[in-house]
Amino acid sequence: MKCPKCNSELEILNINDLTVQYCKDCGGMWIKYATLKKMGEMLELKSELINPAEMENINVKEAPRTCPSCTKTMDKVYFNGIIVDKCSACNSTWFDNGELSKYFKLFMKNTPEITDNKTFITKYCIHKTNKDLKQEFQELEIQSKEHEIPAFSINGFVILGILLLVILAALPLCLIAPFIVPFLVPVVVFMAKGFKILKPQEALALTIFGNYVGTLRGAGFHWVNPFAMSVTPMTTISLKAMTLDNGKQKINDELGNPIEVGIIVIWEVADTAKAIFNVDDYKTFISAQSDSALRNIVRMYPYDAPEESGKSSLRGDSAEISAKLKAEIQRNVRVAGINVVDAKITHLAYAPEIAIAMLQRQQAAAVIDAKKAIVEGAVGMVEMALNRLSANNIVQLDELEKAKMVNNLLVTLCSNKEAQPVIKNNLH
Ligand SMILES: [Zn+2]
Ligand SMILES: [Zn+2]
Repeated sequence: MKCPKCNSELEILNINDLTVQYCKDCGGMWIKYATLKKMGEMLELKSELINPAEMENINVKEAPRTCPSCTKTMDKVYFNGIIVDKCSACNSTWFDNGELSKYFKLFMKNTPEITDNKTFITKYCIHKTNKDLKQEFQELEIQSKEHEIPAFSINGFVILGILLLVILAALPLCLIAPFIVPFLVPVVVFMAKGFKILKPQEALALTIFGNYVGTLRGAGFHWVNPFAMSVTPMTTISLKAMTLDNGKQKINDELGNPIEVGIIVIWEVADTAKAIFNVDDYKTFISAQSDSALRNIVRMYPYDAPEESGKSSLRGDSAEISAKLKAEIQRNVRVAGINVVDAKITHLAYAPEIAIAMLQRQQAAAVIDAKKAIVEGAVGMVEMALNRLSANNIVQLDELEKAKMVNNLLVTLCSNKEAQPVIKNNLH
């Protein structure tokens, strides 16, 4: 297998029972998810590992790489400040040197130092057999215990029809034996409690005596177990796509300049059980998570970068930033059963206190660029004039005269105003 980065031959590396493909030249590693998971079991993780191969692709400037195993083009995914190459076909990931520690940093209880891949494995991935690790995993299971299941329901009209038939059939009986009326009325009222009406894109999470029994979805007239109660008694859970706009925020960019950024996040509830039971209020939750994601992303980029530097910037690479934002927010709100549809930067500017200084800097840079172009053009023109004069033997100039002419031409070509020629006549 060849290194996707520098094309050297990869070697098989065995460290503490872990087998990875390693590039000696660049320190990169090709790791299967099974091995990654095994590493996770050795590390004291605080949360569940996420398989990079299952994460959503993003478009970035970096050129795509080829999977060393199946030679397919690998996709890029954004993850906690790094971009890794993944191969969905082999369920594997390529980690450039140093990226492994950054990947695990998010999941680990004790923050590891950022180090090269090989050192990271030898230093941190050591077999642990203590019970704390097991407890850690159990706690996590509790946190994400609830998953949405469909609630049992019957078409409301069917039950309504049956109820009416029963009432009609019971009427003659009531006339003969009126004492059954006080028994019949509560039964009918109780049965009627099971009727639920849902509009399009609405859901109801139902519990029976405190236990979650399922979510009722689909517009229409339903009948459910009359003991079932809605978790949100006054309203339904909206499944519509919603827009979150937290307004402008002041964040420092990579260079420490304060800038104002605003984003909108379009999201929807995908798993009603997670949204209701895993977090206190999922709307506040996504709002807070979006803010923190925005801060994390903005801090990694400069506001502006010259095009020739090839560096990504907030202003120049909005598609890349949006993709990263979406991935970061999605990761944060996964526990609340929320699906992030889109995240976009809507406002981006220097903070007012430095905006004027930044504008002056920009203007100065523009003036310098313009002058450069003028001087370059003028020098070319002078060169051309001298060459053609001597080539066509029009005049023969000595060095001093040439210097004089260069001087005159440059003044004429580069000055801001029209030059006024002074013609000297040597008559006296
Ligand atoms: Zn390499
Ligand atoms: Zn592959």
